[in-house]
Amino acid sequence: MEQLHGAIRTYAWGSRTAIAEFTGRPVPAAHPEAELWLGAHPGDPACLDTDTGEVSLLNVLTQDPEGQLGSVAQARFGDRLPFLVKVLAADEPLSLQAHPSAMQAIEGYEREERLGVAVSSPIRNYRDTSHKPELLVALQPFEALAGFRPVARTIELLRALAVSDLDPFIALLGGQSGSDSAPAQSDADGLRALFTTWITAPQPDLDVLVPAVLEGAIQYLSSDAGEFSAEAKTVLELGERYPGDAGVLASLLLNRVTLAPGEAIFVSAGNLHTYLHGVGLEVMANSDNVLRGGLTPKHVDVPELLRVLDFTPTTEEALRPATYTDGLELVYQTPAEEFALSRLTVDGDHLGHEVDAPARHEGPQILLCTEGSITVHAKSKTLTLHRGESAWVPCDDGPIRLLAQRPAVLFRATIGL
Ligand SMILES: [Zn+2]
Repeated sequence: MEQLHGAIRTYAWGSRTAIAEFTGRPVPAAHPEAELWLGAHPGDPACLDTDTGEVSLLNVLTQDPEGQLGSVAQARFGDRLPFLVKVLAADEPLSLQAHPSAMQAIEGYEREERLGVAVSSPIRNYRDTSHKPELLVALQPFEALAGFRPVARTIELLRALAVSDLDPFIALLGGQSGSDSAPAQSDADGLRALFTTWITAPQPDLDVLVPAVLEGAIQYLSSDAGEFSAEAKTVLELGERYPGDAGVLASLLLNRVTLAPGEAIFVSAGNLHTYLHGVGLEVMANSDNVLRGGLTPKHVDVPELLRVLDFTPTTEEALRPATYTDGLELVYQTPAEEFALSRLTVDGDHLGHEVDAPARHEGPQILLCTEGSITVHAKSKTLTLHRGESAWVPCDDGPIRLLAQRPAVLFRATIGL
C-alpha cells in the first residue's frame, strides 16, 4: 500500500477552489481544476509515494501485474487497471454526452482505424474498444441532467413554457390533441424523432427557436415559479452560455437530477447526460469514448451520437443505483464488471477501535478519504489518510483494517467481479 497522488486536469468548466481546498493546496488555484484522476489511465496516471520517490502507478502495474491486480482482474481485463476514479468539480456545465456500449465501441474503433483517423485526432470518436459505464456520487450538492424523462412529463414541461413555436415539436412526441387515429408510436420513437429534429435543425431555425424557448422560461419563472422552475433555470443558464445551440433544447428532454452528498447516479451506455454543477466522486470503466451532443466547442458527430443514444425514457429514481449497508460499508450496486464502489463510515461505537474492512471482491483497491482522518492497516504497512488523501492497495496487500478517533469517511473502489 502506498499513498496515491492524483493527476489534476484543468478544463475551463472546472473550479478554482473545490479540488485545491479538498487536497489542501492554496485557494484559489491558478487554473480552473476540473478533475483529479486517481488511476492508471495512460493519458494521466496517478503516482505512488514510495520510499524511493514517486513512481507512476502505470509503471508499477507493468512491473508486477499479478501482485498488483490479482489473478481474477488479470484474467478478465489483462495487465491494466480496468477502472478510473475521479474527483470532479464542475463550476460550469460539461458537454452534453453519451458513451457507447461495448459492442458499439469495438465496432466504432475498428471503423475509425479502417478510415485512418488518428487516435489523437480531435475528430476521433472511439479512442479505445471499451464501453464507459460511470457512477457518480455527490460529495457536495450536485446537479445533473441524465436520461430522457418520461414523455408525458416532458409534454407537461413544454406546455408549461407556453411557447407557440414549440407546438409542432410537442406533436412529434405524440402530445397532439385528437391524435387517436394516428398510428401508435412508442415514447422512444417520439423522443428519437424530436431529438433528431432539433439536433439536425438548420442554424437559422435554432436562432429563432432557442430564444423563443428562453423567453418562455423567463416568463415561466417570473409568473409563479411552478414545479418546473429548476428545469426553466437550467435552460436559461445553458442558453446564456451556448446561444443557438441545439443542446439547450435537448436539455428540456432530460431528467433534472439533484443529488445530496452520498447520493449517486449510474450512467449506462447510450444515456444522454451532462453534469451541471457540484463536486462528486466518479468511478468509470477506463475508457475515453465520448460522443458529444452539444454545449461544447469540441467535436460533435451527430450521426454517431444518434447511433448510440438510448431513447428509452427513464426516471430520476431509476438512475439512482440501489444501495445496501454491510457493517461500516454502504455499497452502490451497479452492473459494471470493471468497478465497484462503496463508502466506509467509521463513527459511533467503532471510534478508537481497529475494525476489519475486507473488500467483497478480490483485486486492487483505491481508497479516498473524504471526511476526517483514518488510519489504514494493510499487510505491508500502515498509512493515515486525511481528507482529500488517497491510497493504492495492491491485491496482494489486503485485506485492510481501519482505525479512526473521530468520525471519518473513506470511499473504496475495487473491481466489480
Ligand atoms: Zn459521461
